[in-house]
Amino acid sequence: MALIVHKYGGTSMGSTDLIRNVAKRVAKWVRAGHQMVVVPSAMSGETNRLLGLAKELSPGKHTPALLRELDAIAATGEQVSVGLLAIALQAEGMDAVSYTGWQVGVSTDNSYTKARIESIDDAKVKADLDAGRVVVITGFQGVDEDRNITTLGRGGSDTSAVAIAAAIKADECLIYTDVDGVYTTDPRVVPEARRMSTISFEEMLEMASLGSKVLQIRSVEFAGKYRVPMRVLSSFTPWDIDIEEEAKSGTLITFEEDEQMEQAVVSGIAFNRDEAKVTLLGVPDKPGIAFQILGPVADANIDVDVIIQNVSQDGKTDFSFTVHRNDYQRAMELLEKVVGPAVQAAKVTGDQRICKVSIVGIGMRSHVGVASKMFRSLSEEGINIQMITTSEIKTSVVIDEKYMELAVRALHRAFDLDQDIEA
Ligand code: ADP
Ligand code: ASP
Ligand code: MG
Repeated sequence: MALIVHKYGGTSMGSTDLIRNVAKRVAKWVRAGHQMVVVPSAMSGETNRLLGLAKELSPGKHTPALLRELDAIAATGEQVSVGLLAIALQAEGMDAVSYTGWQVGVSTDNSYTKARIESIDDAKVKADLDAGRVVVITGFQGVDEDRNITTLGRGGSDTSAVAIAAAIKADECLIYTDVDGVYTTDPRVVPEARRMSTISFEEMLEMASLGSKVLQIRSVEFAGKYRVPMRVLSSFTPWDIDIEEEAKSGTLITFEEDEQMEQAVVSGIAFNRDEAKVTLLGVPDKPGIAFQILGPVADANIDVDVIIQNVSQDGKTDFSFTVHRNDYQRAMELLEKVVGPAVQAAKVTGDQRICKVSIVGIGMRSHVGVASKMFRSLSEEGINIQMITTSEIKTSVVIDEKYMELAVRALHRAFDLDQDIEA
């Protein structure tokens, strides 16, 4: 007997028929002798629908008062899901009970729309499990210390599931989704993408942080911190497939590097369209300039990602950095009104039509020339690189958004990711 957490994403919960399937699958695991906690997302499209309603009425400015209400509204999607799933489980003859985040003490900080889980009270869940119940807990939501409802950011149900698995010391957390595992890149963009049977924790962390939306990055961080065994697998296999087969399917996130993974220099390609670039032109090149520019940006709580400072000419330089697109307007305003004049920049420009494409692989540690191969492959496609950033196991480039798919496909080919290395 094992203690298992299942997480089902929105598409997997998309209709009452699908919810019935989820219930049948979970019931199969219970009948095989396991203790089960299930964390579903809102039915597909529901979170967008709820936030869309709010947007119709909203004055536009993202004040804390507005964000508080957005969280209260968005969290209802998961509340409906847990109720429906508990009913479906009861119809399968299971003793099932549903809870929202606050009912089982999922405590978070108060950063509405991107709250962080601080602790989870496992007592109630454990008591139900010991009484033989299937416990269904909302993904995506928690409660702050003043009892305000919070949400964990889009895709946050992954994080709820792993955090709950860590709190109750589950044997495994299975993330059921609409693809059958983690692929070398998003299979929707590159049909030749291959599923990996394992991926190292470090690579998964990079892939998620660089834009692979298959797992929310914080879920991977939790899995690493608490060593939660975690697997991504399909909810679209027939619910009655052999449980042993199901338990081994998909992609396992591993915490040890095996030899096979060392062989692949680049394991995956991630991309994201969530950033925008801002540039200060003609800034006097003198000590302290980066701080004078980025200090006020940090003070305004705007996260900066890629930074580039050009070689100076006649004592002047250009300074660019990327921010999340949601922060673009604020960043531009700050640069135009405050920072630009303060550092005597000649001009401030911005570009929202950029994207970041990254190659990821722990094999990059021990191989040289990987980045240059990436640059060559992009140049062969005539794609201009605007910014570059590297770390031990990744290289990212910022390019024009319109070349994103072309770049991802070219790199996927260049690094032989469509070839089966596991044979
Ligand atoms: P869920 O609703 O189950 O949480 P998501 O839409 O959040 O599902 O995540 C699954 C999707 O992630 C897939 O449909 C796929 O398009 C996308 N995706 C992006 N990168 C990858 C990748 N490297 N491997 C697998 N899927 C990926
Ligand atoms: N329902 C939330 C969202 O759409 C959380 C999730 O699906 O993980 O972002
Ligand atoms: Mg998701």
